[in-house]
Amino acid sequence: MTPEERKAFEDKVHAYVGREVNAPQKGKDDVNKAMIRHWAEVMGDENPAYTDEEYAAKSSKGGIIAPPSMLQIWSMEGYPMAHNPSQDVQRELHNVFDEHGFAGVLGTNTSAEYYRDLRPGDEVHAHTVIDKISEQKATQRGIGYFIETVTNFTDQNDEAVGKIIFRVLKFTPNDSNDATGGDDSDDGMPEAPTRIASPRGHDNKWWWDAVDEGKVLIQRCKSCQTLRHPPRPMCGECQSIEWDSIESTLDGEVFSFTELHYPKFPGYQYPLVCAVISLGEGTRIISNIVGCEPEDVYIGMKVKGKVEQVDEKTMLPQFYPAD
Ligand SMILES: [Zn+2]
Repeated sequence: MTPEERKAFEDKVHAYVGREVNAPQKGKDDVNKAMIRHWAEVMGDENPAYTDEEYAAKSSKGGIIAPPSMLQIWSMEGYPMAHNPSQDVQRELHNVFDEHGFAGVLGTNTSAEYYRDLRPGDEVHAHTVIDKISEQKATQRGIGYFIETVTNFTDQNDEAVGKIIFRVLKFTPNDSNDATGGDDSDDGMPEAPTRIASPRGHDNKWWWDAVDEGKVLIQRCKSCQTLRHPPRPMCGECQSIEWDSIESTLDGEVFSFTELHYPKFPGYQYPLVCAVISLGEGTRIISNIVGCEPEDVYIGMKVKGKVEQVDEKTMLPQFYPAD
């Protein structure tokens, strides 16, 4: 992209700032006890102010309230959206980025403010505008722009009940550098991006350290011998916190799998087959199926794993068809 092209592109996207994503929308259902109860069950939130009439009536809330974090739920479009996504202004803006090579998308931040408790019978209206688009930034994911949308929520009296700010990064995935000219100027992109580093904490660092040495270990309870994966501090069978480990032979079978195409993260090859694999030892592991076409993968397929270096920094178990 020449400086002139970049300016034209930036002028085009910045013209979206301040535009509403779609007309203010009223939630399909008013705030209601059934949805509150389902949400509380799914989230495992046992606060009785959400579900217990009697308790809620006597509490400082004076009656059932909706969990504040349900705010966005009331105006969501629901399941049909998955088949026929609405072509709103936000989608149109993302398309402009896509056309200029910024095809990657990554949600980076969300923040919410709640102004009052919602109660059964309340109506919720949502109104989303594109609030900010950053200057071009060099990030670890690649070159891109942050887009911030703000959704203001109001009730049946047109009074504000809350606000949600959502920020995404639209960036150039690793295999198409057109948007930055590909002229290895000061774009800050690493030469070959690596996969996202494994998060290593107190309870799982030992497991990843073994992978770095070419081994896949399975945690074993010292008290009842039950195997478990992923690593965690306590045995689910006998609650013992004493454990050791065995090494897996990495003989397994595909229990389930999915083929990822989008969004593309730098450092990964697509399509990427991610599978849940039942290991011969009895535990399951999530990994990639490689060494065959994605369409040749099937549930029940016998696989054999190997710990391999998948990029400059990353060792990972990868599974191949067994035959
Ligand atoms: Zn045990």
